[in-house]
Amino acid sequence: MDFSHKTILVIDDSIDSRTLICHILNQAGYDHILEADSARQAFDLLGIDRPEGDIDFGPRVDLILLDIVMPEMDGIATCIKLKATPQTADVPIIMVTADTKDVSLQNAFEQGAMDYVNKPINRVELCARVKSALLLKDEMDRRIELARELAAANKILQRTALTDGLTGIANRRYFDEFLKKEWRRCRREQQPITLCLVDIDFFKAYNDSYGHLQGDDCLKKVAAILAASVKRPGDLVARYGGEEFALILSETTEDGGCAVAHRIMREVAARNIPHENSTVSDRITLSFGVAMLTPMAATAVHDLITQADRALYEAKNMGRDRISCPCLK
Ligand SMILES: [Mg+2]
Repeated sequence: MDFSHKTILVIDDSIDSRTLICHILNQAGYDHILEADSARQAFDLLGIDRPEGDIDFGPRVDLILLDIVMPEMDGIATCIKLKATPQTADVPIIMVTADTKDVSLQNAFEQGAMDYVNKPINRVELCARVKSALLLKDEMDRRIELARELAAANKILQRTALTDGLTGIANRRYFDEFLKKEWRRCRREQQPITLCLVDIDFFKAYNDSYGHLQGDDCLKKVAAILAASVKRPGDLVARYGGEEFALILSETTEDGGCAVAHRIMREVAARNIPHENSTVSDRITLSFGVAMLTPMAATAVHDLITQADRALYEAKNMGRDRISCPCLK
């Protein structure tokens, strides 16, 4: 791998040491080498500690070689500062030290230094450490990028797994999860939850007379009307089955649920979607089953579904194109 384009910063108070390190790195093919004779000069160069509002950051640095023994701010304090600064936190640091038994070296590792090289500088050692640090940094960057891509892909996957492919609204799986979650929340807060099951009347006959493509189109139109009818975060519109939809209305009484259902009925009627094979109308109509429960220890989610299902069955039995709800009796 070619690292000749990488930028290396050498921080050392000794001009001899600095010159030697730069010379060796130059010889090894590294073209971008920066020098600083103190922590202060390095910070200036990197744009660290600039006055607030000054967003002119210094050059991007890929590796820092840092002398431990320096007047004023030593290598350890400098290392701490670099690791605490967002723009240099991920830049690998190799400590340069004359005494490898020095406790300050251990300290440097604890503060995030990646490696060290001995003084007097040995060419082979220096080049090997620099190269492996750059390799490691490269690998780390690649993994971070990969993790980022994976997270983005997962998000899309998750969205796809919870969405109905045809209508774009929530699918049955998401409905089940959402209802359970809202059920728990409403139980904690002792709030009612209303479930509305919706069926397109004589949809099989619609498919038979207009074909499946137009059937799909009809499902999309109805789904869009349903989706537009609820807006609160605790509400959900989902495709429940083939031509069946479900509305979860949290913290809503059955009166509220019926009001929403009436609004949807009017909206669908206004869309005037022809249905020549329906026996209740010459247009697309819907049947609604509305049920409400305030979750308690003795009740379960399926009680609510059963009640709404029963109400829907009743609406169909009574001739369709209507809302069935205990509150309407
Ligand atoms: Mg020194």
